[in-house]
This record gives sequence, structure tokens and C-alpha cells, in this order.
Amino acid sequence: MNILLTGGLGYIGSHVTVVLAEAGHHVIILDNLHNCKIEVLDRLAKILGNSPAFIQGDVRNQLLVESVLKDQKIDAVMHFAGLKAVGESVQKPLMYYENNVGGTISLLQAMKSCQVKKIVFSSSATVYGIPQYLPLDEKHPTNPESPYGQTKLQIEAILQDLARSDQSWKIIALRYFNPVGAHESGLIGEEPNGIPNNLMPYISQVASGLLPKLKIFGNDYETPDGTGVRDYIHVMDLAEGHVCALNYLYNNESEFSIMNLGTGAGYSVLELVKLYQKVSSRKITYEIAAKRAGDIAACYANADKAAVHMVWKAKRSLEKMCEDSWRWQSRG
Ligand code: NAD
Ligand code: UDP
Repeated sequence: MNILLTGGLGYIGSHVTVVLAEAGHHVIILDNLHNCKIEVLDRLAKILGNSPAFIQGDVRNQLLVESVLKDQKIDAVMHFAGLKAVGESVQKPLMYYENNVGGTISLLQAMKSCQVKKIVFSSSATVYGIPQYLPLDEKHPTNPESPYGQTKLQIEAILQDLARSDQSWKIIALRYFNPVGAHESGLIGEEPNGIPNNLMPYISQVASGLLPKLKIFGNDYETPDGTGVRDYIHVMDLAEGHVCALNYLYNNESEFSIMNLGTGAGYSVLELVKLYQKVSSRKITYEIAAKRAGDIAACYANADKAAVHMVWKAKRSLEKMCEDSWRWQSRG
């Protein structure tokens, strides 16, 4: 099939590109290069033996997207393009609503006019807000705490309304938990701009000596060791989930579905630090610092729905996530 990946040169999209191409699909990437490097295309070519088709452009350019959908005979879209920094979204909410929500509306209008009505959307576990119970299943109430999270929830609502209005749409929103790690070649991975906000890239930069020490945000949470617990999922497991989502879109009657993509297991900051020290054989210096505003004690998925309906389950261990992250971080 011909699959359009918006934001396909980014962290998750580039890994999905590999898995889709290896499953025999023809991948076409549309990315405005806002948060990625064009060199990712060469690295994908090294992994795959040839370069995926790439169009530099913005999802908000409806005419461009329409021409891509027609010219490339697109069967389905995977929509990764968006801004994702929670803190920045608090500072610049309009930029987030305009790019994420506006960009999705523009994309959907283009798809509708070209009669391309299958889409997999990158949503986030952040839509749940503070957990009322754990593990989080898809029925858990939603209450995102940041403008970023709000954009994801609003997009889900738009997709649901669209599916209700016209049953020929097939739509799936995947709520990712905490994607980490890298492709096992070490050729592609996460490349945060500046100082990382997220734990695993921060630890990897401490391990490699780029940053002096990790600040652990709080050690008196109600968790086994007092540090925050999250559901880290290997980005290749996540990527494989997209192939299952595509199969689901083609083989299921449902017009609109929401699925958690997580492992179902929670690990603490200290557990991650210890494991990363082991796999990298580097010391991860850390200090306990104040809690980060807006952080919650624990967040992990009930991933049963994806297991039952999409026949998908995360397979890779936390150790494998650390190993692949370190291989990518310590590349030459
Ligand atoms: P990323 O920033 O690495 O990739 C997003 C890509 O989209 C970038 O390459 C960027 O250049 C491109 N882009 C942004 N706006 C665009 C636009 N208007 N037109 C065209 N291209 C545009 O992010 P990622 O980690 O790969 O995340 C992919 C998606 O998954 C995002 O929608 C993100 O919100 C969502 N998500 C990510 C995480 C995570 O922890 N990484 C968790 C939950 C959900
Ligand atoms: N964290 C930390 N130091 C950092 C970054 C994160 O202690 O420099 C903690 C954070 O408080 C949380 C966990 O690591 O408990 C995961 O944070 P991340 O930002 O990666 O994911 P999110 O909070 O968005 O789930």
C-alpha cells in the first residue's frame, strides 16, 4: 500500500517508516523539517537499501497535501506531524493549536476532497491527565493538563465527529505512553534540540558526558522507591503497533477507535538510571531535585484493548530500550 507519513522524518515517524517499508509498503514522507534533520533520509536509506519518497512541506498547505495524495495514489495516512513540547505549549498555546489542531483539520480536508479516508493518528497518554486509577484503560476520563494535551484531545474529538458524519472513514487514534530507545542499527533515534526534557535522552547525555548530572524530580512520590513511575515503550514496538493499526483499519468495521500503546508495566526513574548504568558501563551522576510542576507519581497503560483488537503487544524489555538508546547515543 501507499502510505503517507506526515512528520515522517521525526523520531517516531522514522522508525515507523522502517517497519512499514520492511512490511512491503511504499512510504511517502511529508515533513516541514521543523523538528528533524534531512540527514535522517540518508540514514533511512542505509537501513532500507533505498530512500523513502520525501516531500518537504507543511500539512497546513492543503493544496500541496491534495497533490501528494493524488499523485502518489495514497491509500492511508499516518499523521505524526505536530509540536510536542509540553512546556513550550504552555508558553505558546496559539502556535500549538494552530499547528496541531489547524494542521490536522487541513490534512483531513485534503483527505476528504481526495477520498482518502483512512488515518492513524498519534495521540498521547497525556490526554488522561492525573490518573484516577491505574493502569489507565481507554475508558479512563480525559483531562489533559497542558495545551499540548488539549490539542491531542481536541483532535480525537474532531476525528470522532468526522467518523460519525461519514461511515466510510476508518480512523484510529493511538495513545502512546513513553516512547524511548532507537532502531537497533544505531542509525536513527531521538535527537532532541538543546537540553532534553525527557528522562531517557537526558540520562543518555549524562552517560556520554554531554551533561554533568541528572536531576531526579522528586523522591517522595507514593511509589515503591519514591521516584516517578512511567510506562516506557520501545519505539520499535510502537512502530510495529502502527502496522497492526493499519491492518485493523482494513479489517474492521469500526469507524473510529482509540487504543493505548504501552507495555502495561511501570518503571521508576531510579530503576531506569540503574539499568542505564549497567548497559552503558558509565556512571550516571544524579541529585534529587524539587518535583517538576505538573508531574504525576505514576502513569502506566492497560494495553489489553490493542492486544485483543489489533493483536499487538510490546515485546522489548526495558534493558533493550536502554541498550538501543545507548548504541544510538554513543554512535561515532
Ligand atoms: P518529532 O518532533 O520527532 O516528529 C514530528 C515531526 O513532524 C517532525 O519531524 C517535524 O518536523 C514535523 N512537523 C511538525 N509540524 C509539521 C507540520 N505542520 N507540517 C509538516 N511536518 C511537521 O516528534 P515524535 O516524537 O516523532 O512524535 C510524533 C507524534 O507523536 C507527534 O504528534 C507527537 O505529539 C506524538 N507523541 C509523541 C510522544 C513522544 O514521547 N515522542 C508521545 C506521545 C505522542
Ligand atoms: N524526570 C526526571 N528528570 C528529568 C526528566 C524527567 O526525574 O530530567 C522524571 C519525571 O519527573 C518523570 C519521569 O522522569 O517521573 C519521566 O519523565 P518524562 O519527561 O520523560 O516523561 P513524562 O513525564 O512526560 O511522562
